[in-house]
Amino acid sequence: MLELSGKAAVVTGGSRGIGRAIAVTLAGLGAKVAVNYTSNSKAAQETVEQITGSGGSAAAIAADVTDAGQAKALIETAKKRLGSVDILVNCAGITRDGLLVRMKDEDWDEVLQTNLTGVFNCTRAAASVMMKKRWGRIVNISSVVGLYGNAGQANYCASKAGVIGFTKAVAKELGSRGITVNAIAPGFIQTDMTMKLSEGLREEMTKRVVLGRPGTPEDVAWLAAFLSSDLASYITGQIIGVDGGIVM
Ligand code: NAP
Repeated sequence: MLELSGKAAVVTGGSRGIGRAIAVTLAGLGAKVAVNYTSNSKAAQETVEQITGSGGSAAAIAADVTDAGQAKALIETAKKRLGSVDILVNCAGITRDGLLVRMKDEDWDEVLQTNLTGVFNCTRAAASVMMKKRWGRIVNISSVVGLYGNAGQANYCASKAGVIGFTKAVAKELGSRGITVNAIAPGFIQTDMTMKLSEGLREEMTKRVVLGRPGTPEDVAWLAAFLSSDLASYITGQIIGVDGGIVM
């Protein structure tokens, strides 16, 4: 049975989109959840209310994952408020799309800092807590474009490919301590991030999906929940697609 009672989880970028669905799903399976966000406290509060309204346990914690000090404080605060940190889902992410020759330094830096350094900052802080317990689950949210690239997203693709290498290295480091580290590579999922794209581009992307529809945040959340559970104790260092068959 898939269940997470007695576990405490931190979901970065848990206020909206895929992170919200993961936070709600983990809590529905019995985990206490820290819903991290950086600026949208209203959305974070809505996620918390959705969880507590169904009898679950959650707390919103603001922290900018790009800042190592704030990432450390996020894990420490979550440990204090939830009693532990057993599960970390690194979901916070941004896009700043543009063609390479016109890409601004700050668009490169912000995306790498959030999507890759943010994962490093939070994982390093959480790993020391998990190592003491000799049990942990780390789930990183990468992307199919980290595998196959995408014109206009050199910064984003580099960050998501970086997450894949990071996942494999850290899985090798932490495996002997009972900690698994995996990444999910979502395809085209309907969230605020993809609603920013033009309708034409969204139609174009849907055409590449074998199953013929965009994914929902819940499609991703169920895999994150499985990878966070005891049922997935023999899976580590894997990059698993949730993309309706875009990559095969
Ligand atoms: P979204 O709806 O735009 O939500 C982004 C989340 O990240 C928000 O909760 C946001 O917090 C948080 N965030 C951004 N910068 C942060 C920072 N510096 N510190 C802490 N939190 C931060 O995005 P999404 O579509 O759900 O994407 C979630 C993850 O899945 C991302 O890593 C994304 O790259 C990945 N992904 C998405 C798709 C897709 O099709 N949507 C496909 C593949 C991979 P605030 O609410 O405070 O702004």
